[in-house]
Amino acid sequence: MATQNNIIDQVFPETLKILSDLIKFQTVSGTSNLKLIEYCEKKLDKLGAISFKTFHDSKQQAHLFSTINGKKKLNGGGIILSGHTDVVPASVKNWTSNPYVASERDNKIYGRGSCDMKGFIACTLALAPYFASENLKKPIHLSYTYDEETACQGAPVMLKELKKRKIDCSVCIVGEPTNMKAIQAHKGCYEYSTHFYGLAGHGSAPDKGVNAVEYAAKFINKLMELRKKLKDREPKNSIFTPPYTTLQIGKIRGGIARNVIADQCTVDWELRPVVFEDGEFVKKIMDDYVEDVLLPEMKRAYPKSNIKKEIVGEIIGFNKEEKSEAVNLICNLTGDNSRDVVSFGTEAGLFQELGISTVVCGPGSIEQAHKTDEYVSFDELKLCLKMLIDLKNQISN
Ligand SMILES: [Zn+2]
Repeated sequence: MATQNNIIDQVFPETLKILSDLIKFQTVSGTSNLKLIEYCEKKLDKLGAISFKTFHDSKQQAHLFSTINGKKKLNGGGIILSGHTDVVPASVKNWTSNPYVASERDNKIYGRGSCDMKGFIACTLALAPYFASENLKKPIHLSYTYDEETACQGAPVMLKELKKRKIDCSVCIVGEPTNMKAIQAHKGCYEYSTHFYGLAGHGSAPDKGVNAVEYAAKFINKLMELRKKLKDREPKNSIFTPPYTTLQIGKIRGGIARNVIADQCTVDWELRPVVFEDGEFVKKIMDDYVEDVLLPEMKRAYPKSNIKKEIVGEIIGFNKEEKSEAVNLICNLTGDNSRDVVSFGTEAGLFQELGISTVVCGPGSIEQAHKTDEYVSFDELKLCLKMLIDLKNQISN
């Protein structure tokens, strides 16, 4: 145990240094993260890690996937430690200190991304030299992605490459803030904007126009009908609250005045499937309803009418595995046998989709994520370092 504490004492200052460096890179989703990736890549290159990058079409954002083999040459497999590099925006004037300059107060590090989730990335980078200097039995892979906060739109590019390169890993730990507890599942989160385009006209002659707001209302009614059906489809032994798939309308924008036929309307809605099939069920019924009923009706009155579905994001659910190697591993390492579910979305479902046993577990609390004065505590970072050192011990000789 003494050695483990020694290692933590040794790497902790380095962890804080790296975390402050990472916070300085203003990697708000949708903006460049190249400097941050370059910083990580340089550190890993020095250790002999084997890396590849994949890019956003704009070439302004990159994923980094680095493999540390330790002292010996290894033949594939291994464990992925995964973190996203992007952060949500911060309103500078509301923060006690500059959100992009790490500030240390009361054994906490404040800064945008400190908890969600540059703290985890800092722990993995600080320990990378240690991993690289040991005799590992399986490789440790570090996966740093972009655009997680915008409905996980980034990661699929990297995962596609992972599949292409046939890098088959047995376990993935997604280090989102969970206070170092093992999270075994979350619902999916699909977000849509459906746009209706009709024909404007005078309110006194409704038949001479196509009212986009009224067609949007029909669409919403159909969704409301489905809500009841989704309750009836509640899976047995569902582990979620509420236990069934939910949907809701968040926003409607349309029309300009009471006496003008509205030619445009947009409905923002979301769906949180407990099982993949529910997502498909709703999508199929709504797409068919638009194609077979609403659109023909609108086009009969005005051929240029249209309905467009905009997919804002479809974060696939992270499903509970029957016997999860990843969840068991974390429970063993942390000595905490609680297996929870969470209400926020992560990249976990995407790794799971590749057949990799996945768990969400990382330092900090989701209570601090996305907030003004976001922070991660020293204690949480140390718990994370401890878990990662124990993980290394389990896969080395
Ligand atoms: Zn996050």
